[in-house]
Amino acid sequence: MRKWIVAGNWKMNNTVAESMALARAIKEGSSGIQDGSIILAPPFTALFSVGQIIKGSNVSMAAQNMYYEDKGAYTGEVSPAMLKDLGCAYVIIGHSERRKYFRESDADVNLKVKKALDTGLTPIMCVGETDEEREKGITKDVVGRQVKNGLAGLQTIDHIVIAYEPVWAIGTGKVATSEQAQEVHAFIRGILRESYGKAADELSILYGGSVTQENIGDLIAMDDIDGALVGGASLKADGFLGIIKNIAEKK
Ligand code: PEP
Repeated sequence: MRKWIVAGNWKMNNTVAESMALARAIKEGSSGIQDGSIILAPPFTALFSVGQIIKGSNVSMAAQNMYYEDKGAYTGEVSPAMLKDLGCAYVIIGHSERRKYFRESDADVNLKVKKALDTGLTPIMCVGETDEEREKGITKDVVGRQVKNGLAGLQTIDHIVIAYEPVWAIGTGKVATSEQAQEVHAFIRGILRESYGKAADELSILYGGSVTQENIGDLIAMDDIDGALVGGASLKADGFLGIIKNIAEKK
């Protein structure tokens, strides 16, 4: 049985005080919801404080990025061990904003995924096509390549989460239809089944891209959509809790 997951990616938003207030509100509003995973991904600067707030609760924490070395002369980077030390259980890897603005390649994503796993963090690996790629009809080529390259060399996918995030849907208000999303989710699971067999049916695949409490219902009703990675709508406790409750009820 796959577990549902709702992750809130706060991106480069919220001071420490704002992060603490938001984490507190989400923790309180979601207490009693136990069967899935609720994950907050604050900016690095707030990880320590948010980690203290959610300790011992049903809410977990993710970092939004990491480097693939343990330590050393990598000015400005953060290692997976440092993230674990702060209480992170997950790390978002290969978000389209990292791929676009910081030129992260599939090879970088692969190094990060492997290092996260070695350190005991669960990677939430993001994949997704751009508008132009969808227009050209190469969505599955692009997503297939990102999935295969990102996971290259892994013997098991037991501790991996994948987020399908069509780039044209991120932060645009242009959510994918449930059929569009389901088609790609099923395609991803199919690829994983080829290499990893039944483990593919245990892996959670999240949809991300302009998810709100209003549109999550149709998406989460689809067989291969196991949860959501939420950007904008995770910045307000009410909206994010609405998404969590919708998913917890339906999955
Ligand atoms: C995201 O950044 O992962 C995301 C899905 O953003 P939004 O929900 O704002 O589209």
